[in-house]
Amino acid sequence: TREFVGNHRTLLKIVVLGDSGVGKTALLHQYVDGKFIQTHQATIGADLLTKTVEVDNITVSMQIWDTAGQERYDALGSAYYRGADGCIFVYDITNKSSFEHLNQWRQNFLSNAADEHAPVFKFLLLANKSDLANDGRKVTSEEGERYAQSSGMTFFETSAKNGNNVNQAFVALIRDIASAEEVALYSTEVAERIKMVEQEMDGKNQKPNMNCGC
Ligand code: GDP
Ligand code: MG
Repeated sequence: TREFVGNHRTLLKIVVLGDSGVGKTALLHQYVDGKFIQTHQATIGADLLTKTVEVDNITVSMQIWDTAGQERYDALGSAYYRGADGCIFVYDITNKSSFEHLNQWRQNFLSNAADEHAPVFKFLLLANKSDLANDGRKVTSEEGERYAQSSGMTFFETSAKNGNNVNQAFVALIRDIASAEEVALYSTEVAERIKMVEQEMDGKNQKPNMNCGC
């Protein structure tokens, strides 16, 4: 069920994807509790976190799905993706292969998340562990930005450890989704009106024919 206030959705499903160890769980806890957790005990299935925030005078509740240690591309069932409004892709700037795997995660999301009710997905790309930029960076900011741009993602370098950019990134995602929702609702409405007008026109066009011959 999808909840609205005016034209705005108020309950959002966000999923988080990326290789094991990139800091997905740490990022979510930094965002939700404002704390850095060193280690996280992976549970079976998906971990759900919720957070309610006010962005641009709209109160939005987010249900954030975390992989809970099942980072094989084929290990996440379609329920994980279904109905998602947005997806946060995460890589670790000190781990090149986590960056190289982004395409696979993106493909996975796109092939599983298709949902007629959420036609516009919003993507956030987080280049995490920016606190380690001076010792051991393997992916430059430019590489990250370029990938994000070519894949339609909003890009931030973040640190779950010191909290840098974490809140900003989530706010950007919520704004993206909120504005996309308005556009999607608007175009549905417009499409319906066009259909009505067309049907009306059809009716009018047929009338002379049906009455013809009198
Ligand atoms: P996940 O497998 O993607 O959920 O990754 P975790 O959140 O479990 O983090 C994996 C490891 O990276 C843990 O040891 C975290 O403490 C560490 N970590 C996560 N985020 C950061 C960060 O921003 N900076 C640093 N230095 N370490 C981090
Ligand atoms: Mg995790």
